[in-house]
Amino acid sequence: MSTRPKPLVAGNWKMNGLKAALSEVSAIRDAAAAGEAGRAELAICPPATLIAAVADICKGSSVATGAQDCHARESGAHTGDLSATMLKDAGAAYVIVGHSERRTDHHETSEMVRAKAEAAIAAGLTAILCVGESQRQREAGETLTVVGEQIEKSWPKGASPDSLVIAYEPIWAIGTGLTPTPADVAEVHAFLRREVERLLGGQGTGVRLLYGGSVKPSNARELMAVPHVDGALVGGASLTAKDFMGIAAAYKA
Ligand code: PEP
Repeated sequence: MSTRPKPLVAGNWKMNGLKAALSEVSAIRDAAAAGEAGRAELAICPPATLIAAVADICKGSSVATGAQDCHARESGAHTGDLSATMLKDAGAAYVIVGHSERRTDHHETSEMVRAKAEAAIAAGLTAILCVGESQRQREAGETLTVVGEQIEKSWPKGASPDSLVIAYEPIWAIGTGLTPTPADVAEVHAFLRREVERLLGGQGTGVRLLYGGSVKPSNARELMAVPHVDGALVGGASLTAKDFMGIAAAYKA
């Protein structure tokens, strides 16, 4: 099977957004309904405080709601944490796991990320699993080794094209305005496709491979045209409907 998967453009709001920001979500929903995202599926991953409200606004639309992290357990004595089941109950369809900011700020290992991805899948969510190298690792020529090891160690049981999305996010490109060249992205994504096919067999063709790191309306078209790039994970530029839809427009015919 060689059909390309339906692209996904997902916005990661990180620790940004109060209730006032929900007007941006309504604007994204309306723009998507007007066909401005073309054939791409959209998802917004707000802070946990806004998940239910975003899901409410997007109900019945082509815009999905996501979360930015989940706990590996379903319930219990874990003060301040949220389980995948709770996120699903609040209206989420996606959850990001293994974002580099969580790997760094919360010392999350690939083994922990794997447990989170498995919890997400068990709860009926689609996990967006992030991988990516640091500047030092890129300069040392270690990118494929690092990304390959992250995939191997965080690969969840039960993965399928419906339950798993991979996001390649070079750490040095996140929030910096720097991006790899299209040729560099092509090399990593071709490698990821081979790895996913090795782990999932024929089904690997259908797993969406997103690029993330300083995607903007001005570079989206070029990055989204790279072979095996099936969409974007967007941070800063997902906070306004104008920029987010400017990126999604890369998929407009
Ligand atoms: C991210 O953190 O997932 C991200 C891609 O951020 P930015 O688009 O701001 O670089």
